[in-house]
Amino acid sequence: MEILDTIYNEIVGFLGITQVWEILKTSDYSAFKTFDGIVSLIYPIIPLLLILELILGLIYKKPHAKVYKVNFLIYLFNRILGRFIAIAMVTYIIGALQPYAPFQVGITWYGLIYGYIIWEFGHFIYHYLAHKVRLFWCLHSTHHAPEDMNLSVTHAHFFLEGPYADTIRTTICIMLGVKPELLFLIMFIDGTYGAFIHIGENLLKDARLGFLNKIILTPSHHRVHHARNPLYIDTNFCNLLNIWDKVFGTFQDEQYDIDIEYGITRKIDSGSFIDVYFGEIIVLAKDVFNAPGIKDKLLYLVMPPGWSHTGEHQTAKIVRDAYIKTNT
Ligand SMILES: [Zn+2]
Ligand SMILES: [Zn+2]
Repeated sequence: MEILDTIYNEIVGFLGITQVWEILKTSDYSAFKTFDGIVSLIYPIIPLLLILELILGLIYKKPHAKVYKVNFLIYLFNRILGRFIAIAMVTYIIGALQPYAPFQVGITWYGLIYGYIIWEFGHFIYHYLAHKVRLFWCLHSTHHAPEDMNLSVTHAHFFLEGPYADTIRTTICIMLGVKPELLFLIMFIDGTYGAFIHIGENLLKDARLGFLNKIILTPSHHRVHHARNPLYIDTNFCNLLNIWDKVFGTFQDEQYDIDIEYGITRKIDSGSFIDVYFGEIIVLAKDVFNAPGIKDKLLYLVMPPGWSHTGEHQTAKIVRDAYIKTNT
């Protein structure tokens, strides 16, 4: 019955209840008062919200079936791949770079603030490049393909995106003195909040979170980030603290009079796993193949999506600037 065991473990793992289950089995409930105990209670929150969202979708008859189906397939595919590919990127970078850090900041209240600001900077750099360098966009576009927003989008990622993101984020954090234990705490907070900002309208209609919308990055800001509307495209790259979007001029608030259109600008079959997962790689390969010389072929890899060797560029910047010019 090995297969049943595997399925059972996969479900328990997906629900994030492995640690809670271990504590419950010991009958020592005081463990819930420890740091690990609290963390064990936070893990299941997003999976449970995801299931609640799915149930509400069925009740409201807004099931977004296509998106759930493809995101479920992506989750399975990444889980199976993950079994064969063990990427120890984070551990390797910490070991290799920590000796070169000019100073070390650990877990203190000011350390957490400093570490988070640095982490967000690393996140901004990774995310900005993921949108502005065509090759990296191939790794990130899977996350933007869904044409609805709900918590299952959290699982929509190309399998190499995590290693790419963590290489940049970990390098920046370690080189700027964030101690590994602080980095892991931030990764946990950020992972949980980063999942939460994908909450759909079935659970949270207005995602501005009141006054918080002025202070931090809310699910409303991340909905804007997932939109292909000309005003919204390529904005709000941060995750929890949106200081760097404000510093670098990529901040955009949700407008009451603009309906969000989720997805990417290329016409895709968002119900097709192949198109969602590999679609941008296929069109990039075609563009490289059709480009006239070696220079243009290489430029396709590093220029922003929408760049063309013919000069008829349709990059996000051109589209957004043109929209702002005609609408202000
Ligand atoms: Zn993005
Ligand atoms: Zn997202």
